[in-house]
Amino acid sequence: MLRALAIFLIWSVVHTASAAADLVSPGERLNLFEEAYAGAIAALDETHVTLKSGKKILIDDGLRKSHQNRLTNADLEDMLSQIYPTITCMSIDEKPVRNFDPGRIRNDTFMKAVFGQSAKEVRKELVTIDWFGQKLQVTRRLGVANALKRVEADLRRIKELDTSFVRNMGGTFNWRRIAGTKRMSVHSFAAAVDLNTKKADYWRWSGGKPGNVPKYKNRVPANIVAAFEKHGFIWGGRWYHYDTMHFEYRPAIMAIARLAEQRGCAK
Ligand SMILES: [Zn+2]
Repeated sequence: MLRALAIFLIWSVVHTASAAADLVSPGERLNLFEEAYAGAIAALDETHVTLKSGKKILIDDGLRKSHQNRLTNADLEDMLSQIYPTITCMSIDEKPVRNFDPGRIRNDTFMKAVFGQSAKEVRKELVTIDWFGQKLQVTRRLGVANALKRVEADLRRIKELDTSFVRNMGGTFNWRRIAGTKRMSVHSFAAAVDLNTKKADYWRWSGGKPGNVPKYKNRVPANIVAAFEKHGFIWGGRWYHYDTMHFEYRPAIMAIARLAEQRGCAK
């Protein structure tokens, strides 16, 4: 009897875990990825994505990787491996579980191919938008600048908006690596913005180490997160390695997140 119960418990744990992973299949994820980057992708076959520039990028290197390995050496399949929870799926106060960093896993080759190979190339695509009276420089590639303008317009319509978060924005375009890594920050591509740093919480400031972040803290309200998500931006507050000031334009990650939301949310 006990043995049967133990087997049932193991079965239900395994079953639940695979159900969450299967909520959006690998094929569906790739289709949404292709749709989201239609402006940059020429073709997608079983093994490779071919960009309009002619560059081919391997979808799956077949390697089993630790989380840190996936961050440093991500293929496209790794990039889409964790489903981002929308604000409907996960309350603003919920703490991300260990090494859950949806959207933080990125393939730099792909990101550079989409936004520019160098600071000079990215700079050519910059446009200036008005953001609560502040000028922000963002890329026009993939419609990022227009998406950010729509976020601002939506935020302005929120009566109870706490504007201290959206005034004195922390930064947009900055060709640089992520602190402590060799990976490019999405700020390099002018496709990310930081809220007011005085209202921000960041895993490194809390004394966390890669793969070991004991404290989670956030002050950003749900209505700000919802406005960004609506227009294709993911929030760094959803990451185990959290960065609550940070939003970046990731239309494929958001499209997969919305499909998961429609199907009852991944838990
Ligand atoms: Zn940032």
